[in-house]
Amino acid sequence: MRGRRSAAPATREALPGHKPGGVELPAPRVTMFFRRRPAFPHSDVFPVTDTSQWFDDTSDDRPARRHSDAEPRGARPRWLVPALLIGLYALALGGSAALGVLSPGLLLWVAGMTGAGFAGFFFAFHRGWHLDSRDPQWRLPIVVTALAGLLVLLYLEPASQILLAPFAFIAFAWGLFTTSQRGLLRVAAALVVGYAVVIGVHYAEQRNSALLRLEVMHLLALALALPAFIVLMAKVQKLYRRLHQASRKIRSIEQDAQRDTLLGCYNRRYILAALEQQKQLADEGGIPLCLAVLDIDHFKRINDRIGHLAGDEVLRQFARIAQQGVRGGDVFGRYGGEEFLLIFPGTALLPALNTCERIRAHVEAHAWDAALPGPVTVSIGVTQYVVGESLLEFFSRADTAMYLAKEGGRNQVVVEEPVSREDTQGLDSSARGFF
Ligand code: GH3
Ligand code: MG
Ligand code: MG
Repeated sequence: MRGRRSAAPATREALPGHKPGGVELPAPRVTMFFRRRPAFPHSDVFPVTDTSQWFDDTSDDRPARRHSDAEPRGARPRWLVPALLIGLYALALGGSAALGVLSPGLLLWVAGMTGAGFAGFFFAFHRGWHLDSRDPQWRLPIVVTALAGLLVLLYLEPASQILLAPFAFIAFAWGLFTTSQRGLLRVAAALVVGYAVVIGVHYAEQRNSALLRLEVMHLLALALALPAFIVLMAKVQKLYRRLHQASRKIRSIEQDAQRDTLLGCYNRRYILAALEQQKQLADEGGIPLCLAVLDIDHFKRINDRIGHLAGDEVLRQFARIAQQGVRGGDVFGRYGGEEFLLIFPGTALLPALNTCERIRAHVEAHAWDAALPGPVTVSIGVTQYVVGESLLEFFSRADTAMYLAKEGGRNQVVVEEPVSREDTQGLDSSARGFF
């Protein structure tokens, strides 16, 4: 059985263009059809399954459709890593003090110096002094300050030399993220010179040749190992940066591959893969899903009148208008030529119909180029997914509705009711009674 009705007032309430109690606007051009058995005119030209690997709904700028995709990473405070490193150093000092190697009074010195360093940098960052620097994270000054603190501690307590080397290595590794290899090699040279000065002062004050030998041995190890460490770490850093750049490039290539090169909206591959994925989600979760096929009316005439290049511009404007008319989660893309698909995930037929009618009205009302033969219009067919049916059946029903809109005089929205009326989800009672 197949019937055709025009929109009744109960349905029109929900459609754009209706002003309750106000001036009656032109009736929305919506026609509803229902049929027991759909026709599948496109069964041999609907390649879907090979496209699913292209669809990644986490890689675009739309809100993710599934909870698992929406995992915003909290921003980590910049001071957290340096604070953790200082905490590790404090732990090592505390352990040494507990073993009786370092005097507890030294811990007060460390606490005082660390507090002063933190306060100084906090003040500088607060004033924005770091912003003029080539390295706005100011890692080099922080590393230099930390190393100076280690040297002061070495002067105060020669036994702290055991801790100096490993924590100096950590500081250099951290600094390499933003500081050049050459810059850190210079800092390393300064550290070695500073170390030598402290050794000299220790010897001048204590005349302890055993301590001198120990300290010189440490200095030698540091002077030889540190440059090698910096050079190796710089190579690792370079590799890391290259990998980061490559992954950014791959992501941008992937995004380009999803886009229509002429119009910027999603392309056929992406939209069909999205359709397949949304069908699976609808099958698994039983949530409603709708699909619209949009075809610009008499586009050949437009091309004939204003030329193909201007025709391209009309396509671009149409895609922009349609995309502005859809809601956040809807997926709009070019199916081919002047035909487009609009997927409505988690949406019942009535809201999907409202969106289609809004797009149709916006396209008609748009201030199109005066050289055009008339306003650009679009014919839209929309339908709702029936759980368990094939994509082909689903798509064909929407496509048939679009062709019925063409037959009906174009510039209108036609709804094809799903095969089984019991399976229609989410339609409100007024719309059901209307069929
Ligand atoms: P109908 O209302 O029945 O849809 O008529 P129509 O003229 O829009 O449909 P038809 O299929 O006869 O013509 C579509 C035209 O769209 C023909 C083709 O040259 C044109 N077209 C397809 N892709 C592009 C494109 O990327 N740029 C331009 N400028 N034209 C295109
Ligand atoms: Mg057309
Ligand atoms: Mg067409």
